[in-house]
Amino acid sequence: MDKNFDVVIIGLGPVGSLLAALLNEEGLKVLGIEKDKEIFQLPRAITINDESLRIMQSAGLEHVYSENSTPVEGAEFINSEHQRIGEALKIKGLITQNAWNPISFFHQPTTDQNIRNILEDSEIEILLEENLIDIQQKESVVEIETENLITNKKSLFTSNFLVGADGSSSTVRNLLAIEQEDLDYNREWVVVDVKLKEEIAMSQMAAQICDPKRLATYIPAHLPYKRWEFLILDDEDKKEIEKEETIQRLIEPWLKPDQYSILRSAIYKFHAVLAKDFKVQNCFLIGDAAHQTPPFMGEGMNTGFRDASNLAWKLVLALKEKDFVTALLNSYQTERRPHAQFIVENSVSIGKLMAAYAAAENPDDVPEELVNKGYASYIIPNLHEGLFFGGIADPSMGSGSLFPQFIEIKKNKIIKRKDNLLGSGFAIISKKEIELSREEEDFYNKLNTKIITIEEDQILQNHWLSSYMQMGETFIVRPDKYIFGCSSDRVSFQELTIDLKNRLRAR
Ligand SMILES: Cc1cc2nc3c(=O)[nH]c(=O)nc-3n(C[C@H](O)[C@H](O)[C@H](O)COP(=O)(O)OP(=O)(O)OC[C@H]3O[C@@H](n4cnc5c(N)ncnc54)[C@H](O)[C@@H]3O)c2cc1C
Repeated sequence: MDKNFDVVIIGLGPVGSLLAALLNEEGLKVLGIEKDKEIFQLPRAITINDESLRIMQSAGLEHVYSENSTPVEGAEFINSEHQRIGEALKIKGLITQNAWNPISFFHQPTTDQNIRNILEDSEIEILLEENLIDIQQKESVVEIETENLITNKKSLFTSNFLVGADGSSSTVRNLLAIEQEDLDYNREWVVVDVKLKEEIAMSQMAAQICDPKRLATYIPAHLPYKRWEFLILDDEDKKEIEKEETIQRLIEPWLKPDQYSILRSAIYKFHAVLAKDFKVQNCFLIGDAAHQTPPFMGEGMNTGFRDASNLAWKLVLALKEKDFVTALLNSYQTERRPHAQFIVENSVSIGKLMAAYAAAENPDDVPEELVNKGYASYIIPNLHEGLFFGGIADPSMGSGSLFPQFIEIKKNKIIKRKDNLLGSGFAIISKKEIELSREEEDFYNKLNTKIITIEEDQILQNHWLSSYMQMGETFIVRPDKYIFGCSSDRVSFQELTIDLKNRLRAR
């Protein structure tokens, strides 16, 4: 086996596996190092969002999820009598600009195993039962030392880039001495997964249960599964709460014991932490290695998928175009860290709102600020600072948001998702044919750019596209489908191009 790689990824959980697949699509030489032999057998993540499904399309993996998922109908806060508090989040039947349902339930062991099988059949080199033990950053390469957990044989590899996707107790993060910021949530919950023995009509709304006796969450899940999460009280015996009879008593308000079998009950400490650095020289952190969030928004893994998508094209371009390396790679942290921080903080807000509703005699007594933050948390923000026109995303030109996916619709149903038209590099999408100068052509060739002129009927088919195309005439879209900027009577296409060039070349 060769010892030199473009990218070495430590950890092949869902996030490291996605990055490996994205880089493999671009022909990079990738090594994935994983300490466990098998994938993690119990589900942790249970929801995947629209952006993640679109990212899966770029890796050719969307079928793995779409074949094993159920669209989420909504979410609500309820009291101990299971009556709704405030407005519910209703998303049944909605399709976002990414051309997928906003959120879907899925069964993680099935998807993780399928993806592992696909990676094992690909060009990616995979070493299982191999543990990272040391990293040395040299001038232009990273040296990586690993140890086989069965034979104890040590190996040395070199790579242009190293990515730590090795989860919450990340060895990469520790070896790089990256500290973590505590964002103020540390509570133990018991998570219970059950399998229904027969089909039973139950609420399809995920529920945050604001019961003063015990906070809990009910998750309808992808059938035949259901999930509950129960807060462990300060004075509670943890051994007691994991017992079958305790779990059955906690689930009693929904199901009788003969209607289901318990697949697992596990105690998790829900944390809210953020690595202080997502990048040190040529090493990067993605996924839980970079951020951990309580699962109230169902966004931990999705946040990791955004990291992988944001980093993948930057690594590809940095390896190809030596002119662009510094600013391009630094933008990973600039763009991703504040976004991940929002997700973690807002998940914590949901936890705080649940506690406030449970403590209040009347839900109207709960401060409006907390209520607004709790509910608004379900809305994922755009990116803010980074590789966008002017450096700060400007919502009036759509920059920092995802360009709508082209779709084909028949009888009100999406029959084709067409991101492949944009290719895997940059895209210039315009209402009229665009003519590039020789210099612009050279520059956009370096960015592996596709030029697309949109037909009027494409715009009419897709209300997302029509609202975006009202913002301007020509859009520059990055490989991760985020908009760099668009031309209008305020900014010319030439100005956009010069700004993009300067930003990529900055040191
Ligand atoms: C109860 C619960 C519910 C959740 N629900 C959701 C949800 O609905 N939606 C959502 O988006 N997220 C959810 N999450 C969060 C989600 O599970 C995590 O964010 C996600 O699993 C992180 O993936 P990862 O690949 O970054 O890390 P991991 O899945 O932890 O993978 C890390 C991998 O690195 C390997 N590794 C570690 N150290 C080394 C080493 N030294 N050498 C080699 N390999 C190493 C590990 O063996 C592991 O395979 C939930 C979490 C919990 C606990």
